[in-house]
Amino acid sequence: MLISIAMVFISFMLAVKVMSNAVTEHFENETIVCLDAGHGAGDNGAQSTDGTRLEKDDNLKLTLLVGEKLKENGVQVLYTRKEDTEITLKQRCKIANKYYCSLFVSIHRNSSATGTGIEAWISNSPKGDEKELAQVLTESICKITGLENRGVKLGYRDSVNENYYINANTNMPSLLLEVGFITNEKDNKSFDEKTDEIAQIIAKNIQNFIAKDVEKS
Ligand SMILES: [Zn+2]
Repeated sequence: MLISIAMVFISFMLAVKVMSNAVTEHFENETIVCLDAGHGAGDNGAQSTDGTRLEKDDNLKLTLLVGEKLKENGVQVLYTRKEDTEITLKQRCKIANKYYCSLFVSIHRNSSATGTGIEAWISNSPKGDEKELAQVLTESICKITGLENRGVKLGYRDSVNENYYINANTNMPSLLLEVGFITNEKDNKSFDEKTDEIAQIIAKNIQNFIAKDVEKS
């Protein structure tokens, strides 16, 4: 009798252990990174000074590369677009929120008459450690490209009281990365020559960010 009680108890404990492992694995598998290639279809975003180069294409190219590198390392990736398609800002946020993504990274190219360099935008009330990630990303991309680091900025262009829509309407840490100016030849040259390395360093830093996030939780 005692032996059978002991056997039942041991089986029960084993079952609990198996279940808790399953929960942990399940949770880890649920870590999803949402990658957002800015603009698309009728919305070209910015363009080069001669009008031949469109921001939406550069954004998609880099975003898909970052995604490939993340997936190669076992990270689940959700794209808001994988082709030259129209998708509203509201839909982009809805996708990320629906799948409880752990991080939202929006990839863009900047534009202005004289601007050059790399910058990132985060919410004026961050939802996690995205400032840290944004800093590491701008620094590491500048190191690779030799371009100027314009830093991490809060809010929306000249108004710190407002936010970019995607930063305001996603429920997870999020950032908008401006990978050089499409209006600057030097920035475009760096973008073209170093696309793969830029994608690699973005993916690596995203992975580090997630790893830290998983450890904490
Ligand atoms: Zn843009």
